Amino acid sequence: MPYSYDTNNIFAKILRGEIPCNKVLETAHSLAFHDIGPQAPVHVLVIPKGPYVTFDHFALEASDAERADFVAAIGQVCQTLGIQPGEGGNGYRTISNAGEDGVQEVPHLHVHVMGGRRMGRMVARPRDDA
Ligand code: AMP
Repeated sequence: MPYSYDTNNIFAKILRGEIPCNKVLETAHSLAFHDIGPQAPVHVLVIPKGPYVTFDHFALEASDAERADFVAAIGQVCQTLGIQPGEGGNGYRTISNAGEDGVQEVPHLHVHVMGGRRMGRMVARPRDDA
């Protein structure tokens, strides 16, 4: 089934400047901002500016320029936040939730970049599922 993008999702509103965000960086095709409900001392969301719902949607349908920009933006966020383990930082986790099983709340692709503490289990045990 082709993806249908909801232009009224909260990240679309941020991209249109209708609601504010706490910006970390902006590139030609991507935007990074602090998560409004941080689950770690460092919790930043990186989103493409284009109307992509999930990571697979973006990976399969974005242009080469958008994909390159998005990957580079994630790297720049890690650099800006000082969390790169190879550069003296203490590491981080990236997560991109997709769809119902992925427990995605906002239907615009976003990669969570989280760090500043040990992140614990990669996924919850089944009994902890939301
Ligand atoms: P997900 O469950 O992967 O879709 O995550 C959505 C994330 O968006 C959550 O971590 C929310 O805290 C975050 N979020 C929702 N609204 C905003 C907002 N206005 N600004 C920043 N982060 C937001």
